[in-house]
Amino acid sequence: MNQPFNPKSVSLQLFNTATRKKEKLVPLNNNKVLMYTCGPTVYNFAHIGNFRTYIFEDLLRRTIKFLGFEITQVMNLTDLDDKTITGATENNISIYDYTRPYIEAFFEDIDTLHIERAEKYPAATDYIDDMIEMIEILLNKGIAYQGTDKCIYYSISKFPNYGCLSHLKLDELQVGASERIIHDEYDKENAADFVLWKACEPERDGNIFWESPFGKGRPGWHLECSAMAMKILGESIDIHCGGIDNMFPHHENEIAQSEACTGKKFAQIWAHSEHLIVDNKKMSKSLGNFYTLRNLLEKGYSGIQVRYLLLQTHYKTQLNFTMEGLDAAKHSLKRLDDFILRMLHINHEHSTGKVVPILNEALKEFTEALGDDLNISVALAAIYDMIREINALYDLQLVGKSDAEAVVSTMKKFNEVLGVMSFEKVEDSIPQHLKDALIARNQARTNKDWALSDKIRDQIKAEGYLIEDTQNGTTLKKIEG
Ligand code: AMP
Ligand code: ZN
Repeated sequence: MNQPFNPKSVSLQLFNTATRKKEKLVPLNNNKVLMYTCGPTVYNFAHIGNFRTYIFEDLLRRTIKFLGFEITQVMNLTDLDDKTITGATENNISIYDYTRPYIEAFFEDIDTLHIERAEKYPAATDYIDDMIEMIEILLNKGIAYQGTDKCIYYSISKFPNYGCLSHLKLDELQVGASERIIHDEYDKENAADFVLWKACEPERDGNIFWESPFGKGRPGWHLECSAMAMKILGESIDIHCGGIDNMFPHHENEIAQSEACTGKKFAQIWAHSEHLIVDNKKMSKSLGNFYTLRNLLEKGYSGIQVRYLLLQTHYKTQLNFTMEGLDAAKHSLKRLDDFILRMLHINHEHSTGKVVPILNEALKEFTEALGDDLNISVALAAIYDMIREINALYDLQLVGKSDAEAVVSTMKKFNEVLGVMSFEKVEDSIPQHLKDALIARNQARTNKDWALSDKIRDQIKAEGYLIEDTQNGTTLKKIEG
């Protein structure tokens, strides 16, 4: 007897940047995973490089749920940094008015990309008091100090574990930093120290500042994430994610701040995704080599085609963006959709019992691959192998209606993680007059009126549909643009 495979029997191994090893996820609180993901700086539209990271985090989130865990995910909105302040002061509007359209666009984009919503999206400007509180703790512990420029800095030499994530040595950092001293950073005790509170400079910041015990100013970016993560999720969390460029100094500094405040380990597992690149360079705003999601939608691609492209390469491998790659993703998705449609149209009951074991095996391979550090290539290969085998049975008329229903429900399971498939019978969206025309055309063929049948076929084609013969009679299929 073939027992149905239970995805909850598989554990999740994740590559931990801090230990440079794959580690089994064992949540601190029973079955509930606490995950913090660094979110967008909302000074502009996010580009698809940013979305590669958010889609990796979405795949991780969905896999965690698929394997039977609960999850609380927090993604911050960086609405407070040099770029948002510059944008607001240049446009002479408040930081809220400046960032609001980009926050709205971000949520529209994640919906278009079928990225599941996190449980919470805190904005930095709502947590300033918590950031000030952390600075006070660090000052009291003698880990932070005020520079000659009135900014508050974190003294990295006071945190012996500094470098534990990036594996950089403190003395290497001092050497690297000494170059910066030559420029203008005389205000700190050590050039590699980083800022916790930036004192207000009216010329630079206009009237955007917050009051604090250390004067008017605003928190540093690194502190924002530490404070929001700990305030919402607690002092110790299970997973902290971001793009690889966030690993140093941003995440290294988050560890230093959080752990110096609490004396506890901040995050158990650090997971970083590699970049989306273009011609061997990171896709970024500053290089101007970027596409926003909106650019691609305008070219006629859909959100799930972009999602599939960004999803199908393992997160720890750089992904080179090309239009040809996007077309290939579109093509792969069509194979999935055509297969599902084919299953949805099966009406006969010629089942041989060969289908269910194939489905079970595919689900097992798929789940185990994801459990192995989100090995998406092997997971997708399990689906395509399954499709090939089921299609071979289909051609022999060995897939009955109940088999087909089992196939569709397995595809729905895969889709809980992938979020790229569509399960609507395309027929339902075909205009009624074309369905009527198809009946008339079939009648003409029964009457051997070939001239009329051809004429109706051409009319249907002119409206963008092809007539397809299947085991279950004729159907209409939309011509791809
Ligand atoms: P930012 O809005 O610049 O703070 O970036 C938001 C997130 O996108 C961070 O986790 C970055 O690491 C990530 N990111 C930025 N550029 C890329 C890229 N080209 N490929 C992948 N992730 C990126
Ligand atoms: Zn962050």
